[in-house]
Amino acid sequence: MRAKSGASPAPPEKQGQTTFFRKSGTDHVFRKNVVCPCFCSRYNVVGRWGRICDGILVSRVFNFSAGPAVLPEEVLQQARDEMMDWHGSGMCVMEMSHRGKEFISIADQAEADLRDLLAIPDSYSVLFLQGGAIAENAIVPMNLLRGKTKADYVNTGEWSKKSIKEAKKFCTVNVAASSEDKDFTYIPEQSSWKLSPDAAYVHICSNETIGGIEYQWTPDTGDVPLVSDASSHILSRPVDIAKYGLIYGGAQKNAGPAGLTLVIVRNDLMGHAMPMTPSAFDFKLQADADSMFNTPPTYAIYIAGLVFQWLKKQGGLAAIEKKNIAKAKILYDYLDQSKFFRSPVRRQDRSRMNVPFKLADEAQDDAFLKAAKDAGMVQLKGHRSVGGMRASIYNAMPIEGVQRLVEVMRDFEAKHG
Ligand code: PMP
Repeated sequence: MRAKSGASPAPPEKQGQTTFFRKSGTDHVFRKNVVCPCFCSRYNVVGRWGRICDGILVSRVFNFSAGPAVLPEEVLQQARDEMMDWHGSGMCVMEMSHRGKEFISIADQAEADLRDLLAIPDSYSVLFLQGGAIAENAIVPMNLLRGKTKADYVNTGEWSKKSIKEAKKFCTVNVAASSEDKDFTYIPEQSSWKLSPDAAYVHICSNETIGGIEYQWTPDTGDVPLVSDASSHILSRPVDIAKYGLIYGGAQKNAGPAGLTLVIVRNDLMGHAMPMTPSAFDFKLQADADSMFNTPPTYAIYIAGLVFQWLKKQGGLAAIEKKNIAKAKILYDYLDQSKFFRSPVRRQDRSRMNVPFKLADEAQDDAFLKAAKDAGMVQLKGHRSVGGMRASIYNAMPIEGVQRLVEVMRDFEAKHG
């Protein structure tokens, strides 16, 4: 929304606690000033973020979507600034040949930054692929069975179930452990896992986006490679990559837009794909071609690269983890003392990224969603398979968004609890 044409916006008029900004004859009502990380004027609009930046009034909701999800505003602004002419090339990144020097520099930088952030050892390859995590459910067995006929899977929820179903097309699946007995509200202790010594790999979903459970520990699978679907918490915390054979994830939660799949794979596990593996999904062919065996998702790689740089500016993954712990604590602390809202997940297995919660009276779900929407908060409805609510609070969700959510929950409980 353009606040006004011309050089600078009309200065806001202060009236007590409330500040008004006049936009083409319309009054926008703002509450208390808050500091904008990019040093432009930023106001907390009633129910929404309002920001006046370069004469443009930008209005943003707090987006709790599970994915595609909120991206850092600085990244969106940089993409906007570079849209027509990337670094003097006279082209938008979308218009660049993936084989040109400009795009190759973007992809190289993105890979270098990702390696840096996750401290990825040289003995691992980073692949920028397509097809999403669901495609990886097939691509992983095709590449990693390496002549074996069995793989172990741990079943902790909806995304594990999908991985298991797909893997069964390629091999015998041994479900080594499952939390289905308690509606996937916990992660089975490793001591209860029944691993097979002849498995080609052990597959986990390290953060179940729908159920809201997250491994706070790394399984020890000995010499059998550990494979993780980390779609919904990759880059939210440091990870010891050396403990895994392979980590994959769709980018559209914490790393960028949909269309890009990140794969981090130990080099010795590549080069043994089943003969029927489509070439574009053969990890070795892709690694040898720097992920350009086919045209990669160029714009998604560029945006992910900007997200990686943003993460480095935040202080890297240890710093972002601290912020994520603080954000999740605000929400769980409130849930644990509330008599109206509750978390269904066992404490030690709760996800910092996806927080499902239930109202004491399901008949009030729609009223709560409306109250949240009126306060500028969207996408809080839980996944259709489990119902209730879910707040996804990825890296780019500011702490103010979580604070606002708790405020609205508290008000709602006072009125309806
Ligand atoms: N795994 C997990 C943990 C997910 O959260 C998702 C997406 N919500 C998927 C797999 C599927 O991803 P995609 O649709 O990008 O293939």
